Amino acid sequence: MNLSTLYKISYGLYIVSSKKENNFNGQIANTVFQVTSTPPTLAVSINKKNLTHAFILESKIFTVSILSQTTPMTLIGNFGFKSGHNVDKFKDINYKSGITGAPVVLESVIGYLEAEVINMLDVGTHTVFVGNIIEAESISEGIPMTYAYYHQIKGGKAPPTAPTYIKEELKKEGGKMDKYKCTVCGYIYDPQKGDPDAGIKPGITFDALPDDWVCPVCGAGKEAFVKEK
Ligand code: FE
Repeated sequence: MNLSTLYKISYGLYIVSSKKENNFNGQIANTVFQVTSTPPTLAVSINKKNLTHAFILESKIFTVSILSQTTPMTLIGNFGFKSGHNVDKFKDINYKSGITGAPVVLESVIGYLEAEVINMLDVGTHTVFVGNIIEAESISEGIPMTYAYYHQIKGGKAPPTAPTYIKEELKKEGGKMDKYKCTVCGYIYDPQKGDPDAGIKPGITFDALPDDWVCPVCGAGKEAFVKEK
């Protein structure tokens, strides 16, 4: 059996949110899909350890914000690498309360759906929630982020086509273009890519990053980084 075959399945990237009384939480999920069209229903698979899981169980409501391909890593990091147990993920985030009362993230989002849970399936580590879609809005005509794009382009696994000025920077730095890894979330700072979302152009070494630069995914400071071997 070759489990890597699973990588050939396509997914999008979403923020699934819910509420519990007056508290909001949301998380990144790629496992979102339409189940039926009449009536329109939607399924999400959520890890039982996540706060969003507890909120959906309690309120029987969830919203799905569909992320654009241009979504910055900071937004994905806020909802994907932080825990609602420790931080208010909606602080400083542009969102609104949907008709369900659950939050709908509006930043970098091209559309959203709201659903009321009509069924759930216990699948061990996760629960698959199936919801009746009670609201659906398209916000813009942007391209949806796919899971593959997030990994291959945003995550830096695609080979970069290095423009000439990067090579010049390399010479200037004596070839010291070491990669550094975030010990909190695993993000790798690659000087050949820089951190465009934070205005760091390609060719900036890790040491040359500003002192207040933070991990674009989880928000950890430079001190949380170690050199990649
Ligand atoms: Fe990090």
